[in-house]
Amino acid sequence: MIEETIFSKIIRKELPSDMLYQDELVTAFRDINPQRPVHVLIVPNRHIPAVDDVTADDEAALGRMFSVARKIAREEGISDDGYRLVVNCGEHGRQEVPHIHMHLLGGEDVGPMLSRKNRDHS
Ligand code: AMP
Repeated sequence: MIEETIFSKIIRKELPSDMLYQDELVTAFRDINPQRPVHVLIVPNRHIPAVDDVTADDEAALGRMFSVARKIAREEGISDDGYRLVVNCGEHGRQEVPHIHMHLLGGEDVGPMLSRKNRDHS
């Protein structure tokens, strides 16, 4: 098992964050380096390193991540215009923090999902 990350400390409130939501399954907090006007991370409280590590036991938490994304999008006032949910996995997915997290991005047009620009590996 990969060691826990900074996100576990945020979940346990051992490190500060701009936390928007927490229940028994998931926690949501603002990304420290926002890429759009709204950029929130939604994470399972249990340390699951990546999508590739998911088991059936995780389905309740993973489902909750979507309903919390919907709730926060409404609270942030971005539901009508829309938003993007992103989950990166592993090296090719450019996952930086090995604790599953869903990015909630919005507040403006987030742009094309993937473009040629994204293929230059910069
Ligand atoms: P990913 O590339 O999908 O692994 O995204 C990791 C995200 O975590 C990045 O958007 C970072 O800005 C964000 N991040 C890293 N450390 C923190 C932190 N302490 N608080 C909030 N967001 C963080």
